[in-house]
Amino acid sequence: MEYEIYRDTWVEVNLDAIEYNVKMMKQHIGNEVKIIAVVKANAYGHGAFQVANAALDAGATMLAVAFLDEAIALRNNGITAPIMVLGATSAQYVHIASAHNITLTIFSLEWLIEAKGYLKGEAVNVHVKLDTGMSRLGVRDEHDLVKIFDYVDDNSAFKITGIYTHFATADEKDLTYFHEQYNKFQYLINKIPQKNLLIHCGNSATGLRFPDKLYNAVRLGISMYGLSPSPEIKDELPYSLKEAFSLQTKLVHVKKITKGTKVSYGATYEAEEDEWLGTIPIGYADGWLRSLRDVAVLVNGERAPLVGRICMDQCMVKLPRKYQVGERVTFIGKQGDEYIPVDEVAKHLNTINYEVTCMISTRVPRVFV
Ligand code: PLP
Repeated sequence: MEYEIYRDTWVEVNLDAIEYNVKMMKQHIGNEVKIIAVVKANAYGHGAFQVANAALDAGATMLAVAFLDEAIALRNNGITAPIMVLGATSAQYVHIASAHNITLTIFSLEWLIEAKGYLKGEAVNVHVKLDTGMSRLGVRDEHDLVKIFDYVDDNSAFKITGIYTHFATADEKDLTYFHEQYNKFQYLINKIPQKNLLIHCGNSATGLRFPDKLYNAVRLGISMYGLSPSPEIKDELPYSLKEAFSLQTKLVHVKKITKGTKVSYGATYEAEEDEWLGTIPIGYADGWLRSLRDVAVLVNGERAPLVGRICMDQCMVKLPRKYQVGERVTFIGKQGDEYIPVDEVAKHLNTINYEVTCMISTRVPRVFV
């Protein structure tokens, strides 16, 4: 949806970077392996509709989201490409998935039996999820798996078009558990007829590290956004990634404060000398958490510290010199030779880069360049 932006804070999403990252993965895994672009959670905070289109333009052939609602939102925006839902969908909504031609994830016979009651003649495509070690969603037992295939054989209301699993440790140095999961997946899919199925086990880490272990599709998430699946494997990436996300804002007020002046709630910061102070319109309601007060930001290509507590909608920066209102302030991204990558913010919060882009709230407009 196009809309006017009246505030001086925005996320800039570089769609060329998204396309580049998809194309590089395509080159890396070869033409036989399809790319399912994972655009759940508003494309990890980047903007689902725009990222979906960029990924499809770059060679992805399917999209994946977590919930049926996300899939329908994409359809309502005019996306006609195949979409699959990775999470569980209540059986009572199966006809809605069918009506929108959305592929659901299934993992129990009981679900199929219940869902059949809600389908009024129209069929629904499903991928069977196998739990090989995540213990999240999925069929664990080969007998249960065979029962699902037998049931669908006798019920034209369902069409199994894929089968998949998800790895818990594909991004770690120690790959023992990864190989255990991979072997279990191999074992389970050998129990079922595999004709014309999309078979996928890999996320970004698997695609990057084990292009020969993907069967015929990869579910590409974090590396499509130009981020490494984990810091541990950054040194073994087969190609360089281009980060697509940056967080920008502008000074809205600039003043000189005298030595001893206190700043923000709790008056926890006190100017040690006469200082230039800038006010910036971003706060914890935008996802810039109070615990990020010690992270520097970029002004005119230089790092400058945030000072005082972060408020709900604003925070303050100590400026090295006077700047004009309107001067750009970069929280994530590049300015001149300086760079604050998503990973730096993640490290500060003791979390993963996935969480950082997701946590910048929908109140912050996404601008696509
Ligand atoms: N597949 C499933 C089931 C997922 O939950 C996710 C992400 O969480 C992905 C694929 C994409 O993983 P990544 O972002 O590490 O590429």
